[in-house]
Amino acid sequence: MTIQMPQTVKRVYRFDEGNASMADLLGGKGSNLCEMARLGLPVPPGFVISTQACREYLAKNHTLPDGLEESVRENMRALEKSIGRNFGSISDPMLVSVRSGARVSMPGMMDTILNLGINDQIVQGLATMMGDARPAYDAYRRFIQIYSEVVMDVAGEAFESVLTEHKRKAGVTQDHQLTAGQLQSLVADFKMVAKEAAGSEPPSDPWEQLTAAVEAVFRSWNTPRAIFYRDLNKIDHDMGTAVTIMAMVFGNLGPTSGTGVLFTRNPSTGEAQVYGEFLTNAQGEDVVAGVRTPEPIASLRDVLPDCYDELMELANNLETHYSDVQDVEFTIENARLFLLQTRTAKRTALSAVKTAVDMANEGLITQSQALLRVDAEEISRLLVPQFSDNLSEEDLAGRFLARGAPASPGAAAGAVCFDATKAAELAAAGESVILVRPETKPDDIHGITAAVGVVTSRGGVTSHAAVVTRGLGKPCIVGCEGIQVDLEAGLFTADGKTVHEGELISMDGASGSVYLGELDTVNPSLNDLPEAEELLRWADQTRRLGVMANADTPADAAQSLIMGAEGIGLCRTEHMFLDLERLPVVRQMLLNAEPAETWRRANNDRVFRVENEEQADQSVKDFYQALDQVKELQIDDFEAILRVMGARPVIIRLLDAPLHEFLPSHETLITELMELRHVSAPLADLEEKESFLLLVESLHESNPMLGHRGCRFGLSFPAIYRMQVEAIITAGAKLVKEGLDVNPEIMIPLTVDVEEMHRLRQDLSLVASQIQERLGVKVHYKFGTMIETPRAALTAGEIAKESEFFSFGTNDLTQMTFGFSRDDAEGKFLRFYIDEGILPNDPFASIDPHGVGLLIKMGVEAGRREKPNLEIGICGEHGGDPASVVFCHEVGLDYVSCSPYRVPVARLAAAQAALAGS
Ligand code: PEP
Ligand code: MG
Repeated sequence: MTIQMPQTVKRVYRFDEGNASMADLLGGKGSNLCEMARLGLPVPPGFVISTQACREYLAKNHTLPDGLEESVRENMRALEKSIGRNFGSISDPMLVSVRSGARVSMPGMMDTILNLGINDQIVQGLATMMGDARPAYDAYRRFIQIYSEVVMDVAGEAFESVLTEHKRKAGVTQDHQLTAGQLQSLVADFKMVAKEAAGSEPPSDPWEQLTAAVEAVFRSWNTPRAIFYRDLNKIDHDMGTAVTIMAMVFGNLGPTSGTGVLFTRNPSTGEAQVYGEFLTNAQGEDVVAGVRTPEPIASLRDVLPDCYDELMELANNLETHYSDVQDVEFTIENARLFLLQTRTAKRTALSAVKTAVDMANEGLITQSQALLRVDAEEISRLLVPQFSDNLSEEDLAGRFLARGAPASPGAAAGAVCFDATKAAELAAAGESVILVRPETKPDDIHGITAAVGVVTSRGGVTSHAAVVTRGLGKPCIVGCEGIQVDLEAGLFTADGKTVHEGELISMDGASGSVYLGELDTVNPSLNDLPEAEELLRWADQTRRLGVMANADTPADAAQSLIMGAEGIGLCRTEHMFLDLERLPVVRQMLLNAEPAETWRRANNDRVFRVENEEQADQSVKDFYQALDQVKELQIDDFEAILRVMGARPVIIRLLDAPLHEFLPSHETLITELMELRHVSAPLADLEEKESFLLLVESLHESNPMLGHRGCRFGLSFPAIYRMQVEAIITAGAKLVKEGLDVNPEIMIPLTVDVEEMHRLRQDLSLVASQIQERLGVKVHYKFGTMIETPRAALTAGEIAKESEFFSFGTNDLTQMTFGFSRDDAEGKFLRFYIDEGILPNDPFASIDPHGVGLLIKMGVEAGRREKPNLEIGICGEHGGDPASVVFCHEVGLDYVSCSPYRVPVARLAAAQAALAGS
């Protein structure tokens, strides 16, 4: 008989047992600490409880896995040995920190418990060991507060007000000015706060504290704010967090101790210089929590030059080792430096681009690595708004309120709001708000996300608000001490002015200035960002996909060239029709299209323009008169766009929008008619309004998106598409005569069957030939279609016979594949679907690979089977979405087309797709 031995699962790893590649199991923080220990860096001793233990704990209804407590005890014993102090001992106490840490960093999402293992007796031993009672009681009061908050769910505000009261009574302004005796009485009051809120004080048994802290870290994986952050950043909810337990080192032992954070390069601008902050005689979270405003890192050189030199050398080595910008936390205990953490630094888009390009140019990484290092989405953040240049110095000076530290760039204007929840509500109601707070906490994340910008009166550039806003790409100013917030009165004062909640202010996250009132903002140009230009140049050399722009005006066309577009992938001609000044003549054309077409058919079907127009009814004359006027406007439109784009392809889509978009609403007309009747208007006016109403009613459709639109409309009323083609060829001919090379491509929308293409092609190519003949100029043009209905995708092989190019209109293709109205779904049920996980993503934002994507794949394959050189692209909104760009690359499209400001995103995403596939 064989005896089955119980298998022991390893759930706890000493720092020397792990390395950087174990982030899945040990979390980012844990695995990095292991790596640092492995590299011989001065890390306090510690160990990591694996993410697997967290998953087991959560799966087993919050029960610790068998054997975990024993493993933790064993490892604690090893810790005790390595630092020569003992956990729970009164004479030589060892305290520990307990930190969470998932595979990906979730800044400020789960709090660190410091100084665990302390109680009323141990604090005295600690005081003896430290040679000073003050830091011992300081550590104790911090423990009581953080333990109560994290493990016992006590709100932090109560502790803050007790602390403020103690400082007031002591006549001091800084925490570290409190004496040992004052801190001791603060400890007693903190215990009372915990007892009142939670029914008991934190336990005094160190082992009980430790077990409860580990469980709290596990549970914190599922706090609402952690879930919100994961949702926001699309982080897997099943990963779980590791727990790092590390022997405490003390930054609060006096003037030769301290704590700080540094970035190996500037996380805001990317400047290649160590950047960070330092607080003497302080502990752990003081710097990141933004409670005291720290000193710049350079001041460490004056206080502790040896530590400064050692720190600079270590920072340099760490950056080289990880070949990326590092965010390093350190503590100095009695002039001895310890590194507590290193991780890849969160950066602004500007810094991400600059550091990637600089590091490639320094030879630290390759150009391909630099391209992969910048999040494609981030490149659009470089184009964050700034105040317009035409603001005079006086204008700015007159409005100046305060200046703080510039934590995240970008300019914004909005109404002052002091509360995160209120900010979220106001933003949901469509208001622009700037969240103004003494400091922000992780719980404020929903308000920060909703606000257009954040200003805090306290804190440094590594504080919570700064880190989170930088990640979100929105402006943030911290340590803006000139602003005195009075939350109760709902106002702040600054520079002698009082600003109430709801009043408008403006902020510049790049300079750190806050102004009264609403200032104009402008978007910067890529030309002012040399590193971005360089990175995008590398992207252009790497990508296979072409990148075009959706542009309907000469100004958009010019902008798209600045952004690096290689042509226009979609020019929506109906946007030219919707111009308010043009609307009357456009309406005259559309409303008379039906009688004009009936008359044309009765007279002479195949001729482009019937000759005996004078004998026709007034409605027919009105139609042709309007048509001629629209044609002249369109010739000018096309000429201007083609001139801007030169020899680049310009895909011009013939009229698509549903008719009702050009007409006044039925309700408006009824109201106007009633008003006319009410004022007894002349009969002629009444009759005119009534017949207009009848016309509008006759064109009414229950479902216009699926109605008389696109090529259906073009086939019913051929004169309109003929006019557009005449305008395109005439404009092209004019430019060719000037010696320019132009390449218009005529695109048919909403095709469902090859027969539509066959008929339109025959008809419109006849028009094109007639015009060229008449003008005596050859214009090179192509003729193709959008694939934006499921049937077109399914019959693409046939449609390709009549097309020189395809462009996937994924907005309509998504609408029709899902059967979700693109105008309504997002506002109605789609958010709920995504929040509930019924759909993983918004299919209107990112291509649904399984449904819509499958249709695209089938369309591409069938089209290319018929015509191997068929030019195929995409022009729906998805063309500027990085994940969709990768999809387009993979299915072999020739190009993506997106709005001009998304062009840089698409260029980078296309390069990343090429690198991923190589
Ligand atoms: C599309 O449907 O994807 C498209 C580009 O056309 P529109 O958005 O104009 O319908
Ligand atoms: Mg469409």
